[in-house]
Amino acid sequence: MADVVLVLNAGSSSIKFSAFDGGKASLPLILRGQVEGLYTAPRSLAKDAAGAEIESKSWSDNATFGHEEAIAYLIDLLRSQRGDHRLVAVGHRIVHGGMFFDRATRIDEGVMAKLQTLTPLAPLHQPHNLKAVDIVTRIRPDLPQVACFDTAFHRTQPELAQAFALPAAITDRGVRRYGFHGLSYEYIASVLPTFDAKAARGRTVVAHLGNGSSMCAMVNGRSVASTMGFTAVEGLPMGTRCGSVDPGVILYLLAELKMDAKAIEDLIYKRSGLLGVSGLSSDMRTLLASDDARAAFAIDLFTYRIARELGSLAAASEGIDAIVFTAGIGENSPDIRQRVCERAAWLGAVIDEDANRAGSACISTPSSLVSVWSIPTNEELMIARHTQALLAEA
Ligand code: AMP
Repeated sequence: MADVVLVLNAGSSSIKFSAFDGGKASLPLILRGQVEGLYTAPRSLAKDAAGAEIESKSWSDNATFGHEEAIAYLIDLLRSQRGDHRLVAVGHRIVHGGMFFDRATRIDEGVMAKLQTLTPLAPLHQPHNLKAVDIVTRIRPDLPQVACFDTAFHRTQPELAQAFALPAAITDRGVRRYGFHGLSYEYIASVLPTFDAKAARGRTVVAHLGNGSSMCAMVNGRSVASTMGFTAVEGLPMGTRCGSVDPGVILYLLAELKMDAKAIEDLIYKRSGLLGVSGLSSDMRTLLASDDARAAFAIDLFTYRIARELGSLAAASEGIDAIVFTAGIGENSPDIRQRVCERAAWLGAVIDEDANRAGSACISTPSSLVSVWSIPTNEELMIARHTQALLAEA
């Protein structure tokens, strides 16, 4: 009988899920998918480990089918797909662990109370992440649950990298640089030794380039600096997020354009980035395929900012031995990897164009001073690993 670890990533209108065989050290994937359109047009799609569809479903009770119904459905789905299994734990992706958590943790009432206090720091994600925990607690109180944070990996950063130059009274209220995408960086740090032992021990900048994009400088597998700070909007331009802008721009929007906080939030999270600049799409594939000058400019701005941050992160780690590309764009777009590397030629990075086009893991030439890699990330597996490890400790 398989001991299944269920991994949940709950958002406002969707829940991404994966199930792993927790009885095996390598945690083979059993199935994955998502339930989306919660409260509007709920539908789900589940695929097996090879990517073949196992079940797709939609529900007509639109307005009432929400997180609770979706999680109950997932537990049923596991039962119907894997009669021989036993669900042993649920691992959750929780966006914010604040300064409380520098690693994954078993969830109890005390942990939940701390996590609730962080909701104002991540209002778009934290409440939905925690709602999923509450629902599992209600419908399966017997199940151990584990919280895995996007911020925890960055708690190794020196104080300087985590600080804004704001008065201490503001910093003391939690206004500091937390960093995000930590589960992705932690996964890359865990597999890097199998690709490049020198990079794993040395100074590596990882570029997580997807709908959300950020970069992290690691030294000996530990985070020393990152482009995302207080929220997941700082740093690089993203699919629909603007990345860093002068804070004076926000004051101008408030004072001169009379935008309120909600309108500014909508602008910087949902209408900027690749979508806002191109006026066409947030999807890199669409922009790369377009011959519109605005698409070309959006791509140029994206790669220019990545290259600038590369210089900044290389300075933070006092040198650079390797660059790793990961996530949707980083793993799949030779074009973007090449453009970034061309801008990074001054660092001694020389790309092997054939290896890059062929989708090899190592995409730099043997003489390149900086080794360059394209490595798929796996945040869900990282959550399953933490969940399995904490279960074993109990
Ligand atoms: P993620 O958030 O990691 O799923 O990444 C989503 C982003 O990856 C979107 O902007 C996609 O357009 C982009 N992406 C996926 N496949 C490719 C590809 N083959 N070439 C360029 N971009 C891609």
